[in-house]
Amino acid sequence: MNSGPGGAPLALSPHHRPDGPAPALIDLASGQIVEPLPGPVRDAITRAMNSPRASAYPPGPGLPELRTAVAGHYAHRTGAVVDPEGVTITAGARHGLFAALAAVARGREVLVPAPHWSHYPAVVRQAGGSPVTVPGDPGHALLADPARLEAARTPRTAAVLVNSPVNPSGACYGPERMRALRAWAAERGVCLIVDDIYWAYGDEIDTDLRPGPTEIVVGGVSKVHALAGLRIGWVWADPDRAEAVRDTVEHTTGPVSGPAQTAAAAVLRQETDTCTGDAPTGVGVARRVAELAGQRARAVRAMTAVPYLRPVPPAGGIYLCLDASEALARGLLGARNDQELCAALRRRASVGLRAGSTFGMPGHLRLCVAESHDVLLTAARRLTACLTAAADHLAD
Ligand code: PMP
Repeated sequence: MNSGPGGAPLALSPHHRPDGPAPALIDLASGQIVEPLPGPVRDAITRAMNSPRASAYPPGPGLPELRTAVAGHYAHRTGAVVDPEGVTITAGARHGLFAALAAVARGREVLVPAPHWSHYPAVVRQAGGSPVTVPGDPGHALLADPARLEAARTPRTAAVLVNSPVNPSGACYGPERMRALRAWAAERGVCLIVDDIYWAYGDEIDTDLRPGPTEIVVGGVSKVHALAGLRIGWVWADPDRAEAVRDTVEHTTGPVSGPAQTAAAAVLRQETDTCTGDAPTGVGVARRVAELAGQRARAVRAMTAVPYLRPVPPAGGIYLCLDASEALARGLLGARNDQELCAALRRRASVGLRAGSTFGMPGHLRLCVAESHDVLLTAARRLTACLTAAADHLAD
């Protein structure tokens, strides 16, 4: 929610006034769900801060209680026996991706299906690998498939990096496509790195996660538990890989904040304790899943009213992409590409979006839907006013 100093809600003017002061920015660019800390999390942090071990280094691979809680989460989801030894705690999922990639990809290539999270290519490079972007299937929501991956594979290919629902498109892999990717990876000896950060926000939950010689899972509490500020992520890997992951963590961040780990453990334990069947419940997960479905639908409806931009309805996740090809073809706001359009809309409509080209999805704009209906409607009105005025200006 956008708010002014002191947290007071801002009055959001629906109209762009070129001659008056610009209204406060509606920032839909960043991807986070901001909620007050739930009571059990606050209590766990307070307890951890008051514990005598609060000022000591936690163990390198993570607190045993958190590694066990992460293992419990995956055991519950997959029905497999999960050894906490395979779990390494990292400073957010981003660092988990870095540690996983460093374990498999040094000096080798990593296939990155596009569209993809904007940071993937850079994280691959930082971990010593070479990213190879593989365009997704236009007939299937731009998702990766074995044939496209196979066409991009070389003897130097070490891994492929997938996430579902995809950031930015919201497309979901689903069990059948994941099975096909797993079979292809196992057959070719390519490591499938599953970025599981949005696991509950798809139409189906992946229950087939199985770390081994050709699979590593990376997760965290930033999205599904809306706890991005804790900076807690993890890597779940087979014993050999887990050792390499621990090594990377030891020599980069060292142990992750103890109180944050205690809080994350409390959250995961509570989630697993209250799970029923396939439904992710507990500590707000089920509520958040339902809320996001409504927010995605409302965002699509609001943005459908905006001329020259066309929503690409997401199947899951926290984002919505807008196809900007018409606005770009008309040269509205003088924009020659999605980055220029994004900058112009920020300046002229006071709406912050992200350019699709940074996600391997040129010609699109991405917005985060985890906002109130009012904010989304106001953003849509501002975009409408700005683009209509730009089109009128061209017609004059
Ligand atoms: N993977 C994806 C696909 C993401 O979108 C993000 C964050 N936006 C991350 C990983 C990083 O998560 P964390 O904040 O836990 O580092």
